[in-house]
Amino acid sequence: FIQALRMPGSKSDQEDDEPKLSDAERKKLSLQETRRSLPIYPFKKDLIQAIKDHQVLIIEGETGSGKTTQIPQYLYEAGFTQDGKKIGCTQPRRVAAMSVSARVAQEMGVKLGNEVGYSIRFEDCTSERTIIKYMTDGTLHREFLSEPDLQSYSVMIIDEAHERTLHTDILFGLVKDITRFRPDLKLLISSATLDAQKFSDFFDEAPIFRIPGRRYPVDIYYTKAPEADYIDACVVSVLQIHATQALGDILVFLTGQEEIETCQELLQERSRRLGSKIKELIILPVYSNLPSDMQARIFQPTPPNARKVVLATNIAETSLTIDNIIYVIDPGFCKQNNFNSRTGMESLIVVPISKLSFSSSGISLSIVSSSANNPISLANEESTARMMDVTFLSKMNQDFVLYGCETWTLTVREEQRLRVFENKVLRKIFGAKRDEVTGEWRKLHNTELHALYSSPDIIRNIKSRRLRWAGHVARMGESRNAYRVLVGRPEGKRPSGRPRRRWEDNIKMDLREVGYDDRDWIDLAQDRDQWRAYVRAAMNLRASANQRAGRAGRVAAGKCFRLYTAWAYKHELEDNTVPEIQRINLGNAVLTLKALGIDDLVHFDFLDPPPHETLVLALEQLYALGALNHHGELTKLGRRMAEFPVDPMMAKMILASEKYKCSEEILSIASMLSVNGAIFYRPKDKIVHADAARRGFFTPGGDHLMLLNIYSRWADSDFSTQWCYENFLQHRSLKRARDVRDQLAGLMARVEIDLVSGASDTVGIRKAITAGYFYHVARLSKGGQYKTAKHQQTVMIHPNSSMFEDLPRWVIYHELVFTTKEFMRQVTEIESKWLLEVAPHYYKPRELEDSTNKKMPKMTGKSRAELGIH
Ligand code: ADP
Ligand code: MG
Repeated sequence: FIQALRMPGSKSDQEDDEPKLSDAERKKLSLQETRRSLPIYPFKKDLIQAIKDHQVLIIEGETGSGKTTQIPQYLYEAGFTQDGKKIGCTQPRRVAAMSVSARVAQEMGVKLGNEVGYSIRFEDCTSERTIIKYMTDGTLHREFLSEPDLQSYSVMIIDEAHERTLHTDILFGLVKDITRFRPDLKLLISSATLDAQKFSDFFDEAPIFRIPGRRYPVDIYYTKAPEADYIDACVVSVLQIHATQALGDILVFLTGQEEIETCQELLQERSRRLGSKIKELIILPVYSNLPSDMQARIFQPTPPNARKVVLATNIAETSLTIDNIIYVIDPGFCKQNNFNSRTGMESLIVVPISKLSFSSSGISLSIVSSSANNPISLANEESTARMMDVTFLSKMNQDFVLYGCETWTLTVREEQRLRVFENKVLRKIFGAKRDEVTGEWRKLHNTELHALYSSPDIIRNIKSRRLRWAGHVARMGESRNAYRVLVGRPEGKRPSGRPRRRWEDNIKMDLREVGYDDRDWIDLAQDRDQWRAYVRAAMNLRASANQRAGRAGRVAAGKCFRLYTAWAYKHELEDNTVPEIQRINLGNAVLTLKALGIDDLVHFDFLDPPPHETLVLALEQLYALGALNHHGELTKLGRRMAEFPVDPMMAKMILASEKYKCSEEILSIASMLSVNGAIFYRPKDKIVHADAARRGFFTPGGDHLMLLNIYSRWADSDFSTQWCYENFLQHRSLKRARDVRDQLAGLMARVEIDLVSGASDTVGIRKAITAGYFYHVARLSKGGQYKTAKHQQTVMIHPNSSMFEDLPRWVIYHELVFTTKEFMRQVTEIESKWLLEVAPHYYKPRELEDSTNKKMPKMTGKSRAELGIH
């Protein structure tokens, strides 16, 4: 059941509940006034009562209603901390934890870190006195390791539950379990969107407390055609709004720090050029690594006669509320982590919505060759396949794709597209006359793919007309505008005069005749999972688009400018959200759960269980890393790994440094890798100098060693800011690396590893890296391409890597980023024989044999022995 919403108490009821303010200075009074104006305020009394009446309560209220900042204070005022216990509140994002706690400390008139504090990875700003503690969900997850019953808390708030991050999802299961044996612990699940019912069901029908939002209307504008360069489009839109629209602040959504910095630079430059022709424009960035003093600036009120423009990541979607935003610019991109459970590969994907609609450059094509993609399995998976085709292809700017050797799928966005297709491609390639094709197509108009395939009529038709490469177009779904061409198996005679080729080559040749370029080809190799990942990433976007628009209507009627077409919004964005637990690598989570003594993960109480294969893969990976034994139990190494708040591969790398006597170096590398923000500074007007400075840091061996080199030289400069400036390095990022390093060094003491340095060459360092990241190995294959060692996926060295021109035979990479291709970031050269040394249960000598050069003599038993391969 859902408890009916109580009506708010009248204002006069509330007044005697007001906290007695010791310090009554004016500023603080106005803060209290602001607090009273929040939508949650009238519900204060009822909310406290509901919390007293129920152990678990689901709270739903629009972003900005005051859930995060007010509820902990209400609880404090109501005496929930009197027995010396704390109120905890989790946030999915670190910036939110920092900024919200700063705000609450200010509202309560205390110093941040005393009564009100925050704790995030690598940074604990709390003390003995802390009674309201904000933390990231990952931090609370780790706190379970030291305090499995959360004994020091009287209330735990799982905030932003709708974000469904991996850690939040796991916390659901853990806290649900605790409420059973700690009846005194209050649990609040707070969410900004309408999924409260699902949480209620999970928590044994916990009542839902709804806080009605206040919203002003938001007008939504779309672009007429997709934008080619969305950063530029953002800049232009901001300036247009600034020049033509009434005052009111602007919020722009971008995908990350680098983009935000680019946009900021462009805006500064262009508004400078406009000079006094425009009013003052205050440009402020927000992203997760922004230092706190900069974060505070986004909340400062805009001076009169000026306009503030905030460039934010999706942190401003729900976690942070910036008042007085009237205009929102949504380019429709987001960045998402994705994990391929078949190959165990994880990559960061930037998902473009705005490219969905049309490609301006004519038709392009992808090939996927895999025998698994036969028509029958496609037909069975039709709905998935259909969705993948449309969404994926349009994102890739592809009009059609070829897969299996029998099926040809194409998406045609409009009737016009179809005509282009018929004229340009079908007729020429297939030698069919247009009428024939469209005639057939009309007849088949409403035929299901499955029927199409199984119809003997069609097959006969294909055979009798000896269509080799093409047959018929079937419309697969009105709504999706997807078309599929079935291609007959290449049997019978080849067109005369053509040499025997692989079927892909034949088609490529055909296409070249009608004016294609090989560069238009994207060989998706054998991976349909990649598409799936892409589609999943896209699915969250419509929900995001609505949240983003909503940010414009908090204080007055607002406007939202979407830099994509209305068509794209309507047809390409899905409403579903896929929780992180179903799409990312679970290694870290599984390791912590194991360390908590939760061994049966298959039966763990998940809100949405992760796919079985993802769990299995995580277990396998932990086994390969040596964290679990073959019974799936945590090993001594695994226990030590769990001490580190980093992913298992990095934890293993750090621990392996003991054996290779290079813990100092590995710690520097690990902290530089953890910075997760730009290290190099590349101002537009000094690109040449910046790039030269960057090249100056290149270090034989690769990027990891370059990071070490940068850190060491910075340390030699006495951590000088000036030195960073002269060398075009981001001081802020390096400073953060130093903080991370200090934390890691502390943990090293805990697992009793001495910090030593002194390897004369870099082999030990690179072996330690390999001991952790042996899953991330690629080898150079023919044609200068890299393929991953285990799954033969095509990957490329990122152009920003110092190894971009080197092309060593074997490399290890830190991460993959998928934009137009799968790129390896942070690449270092290794030797394949090390893999047998550090991961003997994962790599077999046969897999590491060199197959790139067929002429090379087979390795004899003797030479193998010389290489140390057994
Ligand atoms: P919810 O959690 O319901 O989304 P919040 O409690 O985060 O709402 O926000 C309530 C109000 O507090 C908003 O008006 C917001 O602008 C303000 N606020 C939150 N954090 C800060 C901050 N660091 N500085 C100034 N105002 C803030
Ligand atoms: Mg909130």
